[in-house]
Amino acid sequence: MIDVLVIGGGNAALCAALTAREAGASVMLLEAAPREWRGGNSSHTRNLRCMHDAPQDVLTDAYPEEEFWQDLLKVTGGKTTESMARLAIREGSGSRDWMRKHGVRFQPSLSGTLHLSRTNAFFMGGGKALVNAYYLSAEKLGVQIRYDAAVERIELDPSTGSGRTEFVAAHLKSGERIEAKSCVLACGGFESNREWLREAWGQNALGEWPTDNFAIRGTRFNMGVVLRDLMDQGADLIGDPTQAHMVAIDARAPLYDGGICTRVDCVSLGIMVNRDAQRFYDEGEDFWPKRYAIWGRLVAQQSGQVGHSIIDAKAVGRFMPPVFKGAKADTLEDLARQLGLDEAAFLKTVREYNAACKVGKFDHSVLDDCHTENLTPAKTHWALPIDTAPFYGYTLKPGVTFTYLGLKVGENTAVRFGGIESPNLFAAGEIMAGNVLGQGYTAGVGMTIGTAFGRISGMESARSAMNLRVTQR
Ligand SMILES: Cc1cc2nc3c(=O)[nH]c(=O)nc-3n(C[C@H](O)[C@H](O)[C@H](O)COP(=O)(O)OP(=O)(O)OC[C@H]3O[C@@H](n4cnc5c(N)ncnc54)[C@H](O)[C@@H]3O)c2cc1C
Repeated sequence: MIDVLVIGGGNAALCAALTAREAGASVMLLEAAPREWRGGNSSHTRNLRCMHDAPQDVLTDAYPEEEFWQDLLKVTGGKTTESMARLAIREGSGSRDWMRKHGVRFQPSLSGTLHLSRTNAFFMGGGKALVNAYYLSAEKLGVQIRYDAAVERIELDPSTGSGRTEFVAAHLKSGERIEAKSCVLACGGFESNREWLREAWGQNALGEWPTDNFAIRGTRFNMGVVLRDLMDQGADLIGDPTQAHMVAIDARAPLYDGGICTRVDCVSLGIMVNRDAQRFYDEGEDFWPKRYAIWGRLVAQQSGQVGHSIIDAKAVGRFMPPVFKGAKADTLEDLARQLGLDEAAFLKTVREYNAACKVGKFDHSVLDDCHTENLTPAKTHWALPIDTAPFYGYTLKPGVTFTYLGLKVGENTAVRFGGIESPNLFAAGEIMAGNVLGQGYTAGVGMTIGTAFGRISGMESARSAMNLRVTQR
């Protein structure tokens, strides 16, 4: 019988599989996707948020644990578990040498994207290169890898005494049953499951089903099948099904796998208006890495689930140019026409915003003093009038990156049933990210969570399996 069965094929699963194998366990990894689509959302990533006390190879300055923790506290509005968040921060930062050992290479961040050179280590070749390196290393170490191996059901034994629920086997969609001594669930959230998203969000006051207008930024394989199964079998949960990492992305993005090139990063440099040409949130609340992931939700709450990011010529060159070209016009009237907005309402919004701007010393790299006065909602930083042609507009819709509802676990990542830890069932990555992220996001923390808890769950599952072997002898 296999020691450790890892369900999933992204960063968390690979970190778990590699660590368990290094600890001496025999390991099998089940990836739902075919080989060419392996790697889940992790293959779309670019970087890892990383604490450090002094400059390191690709990281500038210092980013101490306390600052990282305060950043998380702020973006989650306190909806986080401090012990789990601090563990992710510490373990994540200590992982980079291990990552290098398995073939991951880092590069400095490009300027002008997300102000990230101090906080985030970028993967050379992006997440695709990272997962390819991990798969290669796993193959070399003898991890058995199975593609097209979607798990449909987890077989549990709840009658093992002292209320503990043991993992017994995984049942594949194909009907196959695979037993193992222990198991790591690292098969993502339920973001790819449009029916589940629809059920979670319901209808809005206008009778719309908002999620019908969502795109899924990453993989189509994170259907939440195992999460739902575990929910039905009484596993302890954490999080709200409507909370997710959600970015406002180009409305022309495909339904799945649009990836980062559908992102539009100029929101903080201009204004955002809804279908009625009204502003609805402070575009300059904080640095873009701490705010980009709230705009998907904000747009989702607007009628038609649509938003338009508006900038003028002054913003060009100050953000990563989007792949899709936006509307471009010499006059605001023409821009309104191209975006399908009511001209008079749009002009009124822009004029009121322009009149409210109190321009100080513009600096996009700090929380500057350019702000609005007597305007609701306010724009608290980087508020410059929109007055210099050409004007640009990008029509955006919500893009779900990953959902936060997941399995409640403690520091050893053991899945719990009625508060009692399973001795041999563990969880890592998105499927338990809700323990750290109750809401909000700060760039790069998804990979920190997956790397930290992937490695912990790999070690714990190996320990559990090898203890079992000892007791069986
Ligand atoms: C476009 C995009 C860009 C991103 N950029 C970043 C970034 O730069 N930095 C960052 O920190 N985070 C980023 N994220 C978030 C990041 O991808 C996730 O937080 C992280 O990858 C989660 O890792 P994971 O292993 O838990 O999930 P995934 O990488 O999604 O892996 C889940 C795996 O489980 C498999 N699976 C699903 N169901 C089953 C089943 N029933 N049976 C077997 N296998 C199953 C899937 O096929 C997949 O391989 C980004 C996400 C997207 C979509």
